[in-house]
Amino acid sequence: MAILEVKNLKKYFPVTAGVFLKRTGWVHAVDGVSFKLNRGETLGIVGESGCGKTTLGRCIMGLYDPSEGHVSVNSRRVKKRDSKLKKRLALNMQMIFQDPFESLNPRQTVKEILEEKYIIHDRKKNLKAEIDQLIEKVGLSKDDLSKFPHEFSGGQRQRIGIARAISLEPEIIICDEPVSALDVSVQSKILNLLLELQNKLGLTYIFISHDLSVVKHISDTIAVMYMGKIVEIADAQSIYNRGRHPYTRALLSAVPIPDPDRTKERIILKGEVPSVENPPKGCRFNTRCRYVEKICLKKEPELLMHKDNPDHLTACHLYC
Ligand code: SF4
Repeated sequence: MAILEVKNLKKYFPVTAGVFLKRTGWVHAVDGVSFKLNRGETLGIVGESGCGKTTLGRCIMGLYDPSEGHVSVNSRRVKKRDSKLKKRLALNMQMIFQDPFESLNPRQTVKEILEEKYIIHDRKKNLKAEIDQLIEKVGLSKDDLSKFPHEFSGGQRQRIGIARAISLEPEIIICDEPVSALDVSVQSKILNLLLELQNKLGLTYIFISHDLSVVKHISDTIAVMYMGKIVEIADAQSIYNRGRHPYTRALLSAVPIPDPDRTKERIILKGEVPSVENPPKGCRFNTRCRYVEKICLKKEPELLMHKDNPDHLTACHLYC
């Protein structure tokens, strides 16, 4: 059963100019995104920086109100002015941020950082025991509770961020590039910790990243985003083995193969990256696509299912 449903979600930001901040246009950060996510599963959202993946995550969290479309959690539609439901969602959904150092208050000890949410939400019963258990769940020790964030490595700081995110037992966690600031060896430890916590606590993740190899490691389903739209979505294996959209293929070509005897062609995207304020007509990828045809300049491709796999959707005229 779907714990989260996003339907035709759009988020436009106004562009202003001049002394009177006159509106001159809109940035189409997220432009008609729909998907369903089942309980206990992970949806990986991948794309270059500026493709709208973080804005999408923030709309789902309720940090931004969508311009159009809606988000439903546990079959309840989140309405703009439903502050009661939003408050409940703030407990049920948490976020892990890219930069663990920036997201932790340097003047607080780890104990104070972890206690904060319990105090705000008046859940102070057995607080010491809760905090002791929490720190051990993320692979740190009780002795670490009296330390400050600067005394930890990047990976350990991300563990503190994860402990804070799971503190009030949320169902959904949005992980926004949680390992991109970390060394490769530490990345895999944090990914394994996230998988372990998902198994133990039944968590549902949205995992946002620009790196397809990282997303593949953790996701059940992968959505590839380009300029505010999902251009391909399928289960992780299907994207990895049979990703068809030319943009997905370019991302796949950058994923290293763990076999020194095998090589693959690296697809370097050429052409202009269009402005999100003024996206190109037709397919938004047409300025960089090596297969572009006349129809791509006029008609926007729909996200359609593959004949051989109805759960694999691609938005490209090559496959319509
Ligand atoms: Fe390329 Fe055309 Fe497909 Fe867009 S629709 S990805 S321009 S072939």
